[in-house]
Amino acid sequence: MHSDIISKIEKARQYAQQPERIAIDSLSATFRGGNNDHVITIRDGAWQCDCDFFKHHSTCAHVMAMQKILAPMLSDRARQAVNPLDADSFAESLG
Ligand SMILES: [Zn+2]
Repeated sequence: MHSDIISKIEKARQYAQQPERIAIDSLSATFRGGNNDHVITIRDGAWQCDCDFFKHHSTCAHVMAMQKILAPMLSDRARQAVNPLDADSFAESLG
């Protein structure tokens, strides 16, 4: 029993170095922004943030930060959704 736990801890240590093993399907988080807290969610690869900027542009600093932090664990859709590094689609969304 004890050695079982030790081997699981060792395995967990290895897994923790491999975030790409994890695929986030849905998530809800509170983001402490510069002025206010914001609620961010991912559902089916689609982001949502309750800040004003997101309402108009379908992305915001909070979502962009989450995309950067969680990148290895996101689906292609969630990683690329209005990706600010893709200047064209971002400019369109600002359009
Ligand atoms: Zn936001």
